[in-house]
Amino acid sequence: MTQKIIIIGAHAAGLDAASAARKTDRTAEITLITKEDKAAYSRCGLPFVLGGHIETFDDLVVFPERFYKMMKLNLLLETIVTKIDSKEKTVDITYKSGNKETLQYDSLILTTGADPFIPPIKGREKNGVFTVRTIEDGQKINKALETAKSAVIVGAGLIGLEVAVACLERGLKTTVVEFLPYILPVLLDKAMADHVKVAVEEKGMNIIVGKGAEEILGVDKVTGVRVAGEVIPADVVVVATGVRANLDLAKDAGVELGRTGIKTNLRMETNIKGIYAAGDCTESIHLVTHRPIMSQLGTTAVKQAKVAGINAAGGYSTFIGAMGSWITRLFSTEVGGTGLTEFMAGRSGIETVSAAIVSKTRADYFPGALPIRVKLTVDKETAILIGAQVIGGEEVTQRINVLSLAIQNQMTVYELAKAETCYAPPVSETWEPITLAAEMVIRKLK
Ligand SMILES: Cc1cc2nc3c(=O)[nH]c(=O)nc-3n(C[C@H](O)[C@H](O)[C@H](O)COP(=O)(O)OP(=O)(O)OC[C@H]3O[C@@H](n4cnc5c(N)ncnc54)[C@H](O)[C@@H]3O)c2cc1C
Repeated sequence: MTQKIIIIGAHAAGLDAASAARKTDRTAEITLITKEDKAAYSRCGLPFVLGGHIETFDDLVVFPERFYKMMKLNLLLETIVTKIDSKEKTVDITYKSGNKETLQYDSLILTTGADPFIPPIKGREKNGVFTVRTIEDGQKINKALETAKSAVIVGAGLIGLEVAVACLERGLKTTVVEFLPYILPVLLDKAMADHVKVAVEEKGMNIIVGKGAEEILGVDKVTGVRVAGEVIPADVVVVATGVRANLDLAKDAGVELGRTGIKTNLRMETNIKGIYAAGDCTESIHLVTHRPIMSQLGTTAVKQAKVAGINAAGGYSTFIGAMGSWITRLFSTEVGGTGLTEFMAGRSGIETVSAAIVSKTRADYFPGALPIRVKLTVDKETAILIGAQVIGGEEVTQRINVLSLAIQNQMTVYELAKAETCYAPPVSETWEPITLAAEMVIRKLK
């Protein structure tokens, strides 16, 4: 009998779950449902449309209509799932027209994602205050930027900084306000974050750390933000202070939740047989601490989703966990990390030794060689690598990928220091910066 698979959400996780399910079962009836009027576009590309690197928001739509036909996926746009009945194995949906229907499923995959969280800042409802999650958000910000002269971005995480870069590239006077004492506070240690801060400040970004946005000012339309008593003029305010998972449907259906996301087993199946979950609404197990985390990155979403899709369609696959490996480029500075920072390791009760070095991305004499800074953090007792941060002018991504693999394979810093690496003047230094950083950690361990 043809099995019916329903996927709630049709974005990064939803689409990868659907593709994996289709490859596992060629005959399954697969239905994807999303509230939005477009499916499977790259949220990650939004800041780069704002900055003018990508021409239009439509360019972010990853899969054309013919993909759904080819894969025989039934896509329901502008349709809301209002209820899951896990006993009857049905979902209630409401179409844009207002018509309602109840659909039957054999397997259900929850990829309901997350929505921006806005802290209770006075004045946050004013015109000119935005969050950035959907194409619609992007279009609104884009329109506002056409006439704006100045912007304040609340939150110096990845998205906040990427949007701040875009505002500067559009010629706006741009200030980033971060409540915590340094930028990228969950992702970098302070000294590394301060290097990034200097790099973006040199490009004209004004950054205020250790102070919160107290009030958004203006009568109807925003005119500024008050920070520690001082008024910073702004025609546009973008609040980028994190996201919260969409959990209401799961909760009402009796799906077990962790502290902030849906709990699953290694097969991405929830406590209810036949209901799977993946993406920003779902917990992962941290590969170093073995504790639940909300990764809320596209990379984790698609990996979890592939596993959920295969299993929902009757195959077998497992997702072992995540470390939140990340990367971005802010103007000409690439910055990324994997595993735990020294600070986060300390909070997890792990005693660490860390060291950082600065080297070059090409032979020192080769034109265009750029600085690269590598920080490694190891468990003091075992010398096993548990975290890495890299900042450089180029070639950061693949170093993060290598270091992520090293952490995943529980390599010691002694093994890392002996790793064979390659060299040619136009593309690398004789001594790989990762090796140099490993040797520095070993010196400290001794
Ligand atoms: C500006 C920006 C930049 C980013 N950059 C990066 C990056 O560089 N690298 C990276 O790895 N990640 C990045 N991310 C994160 C990445 O986009 C997310 O991790 C990813 O989108 C998660 O996909 P998802 O499918 O789990 O959830 P979502 O993309 O949130 O999709 C869930 C969908 O489900 C829909 N839905 C929810 N409830 C219902 C319901 N009841 N009925 C119908 N539909 C429903 C929602 O409306 C939504 O459309 C970025 C995010 C943003 C916003």
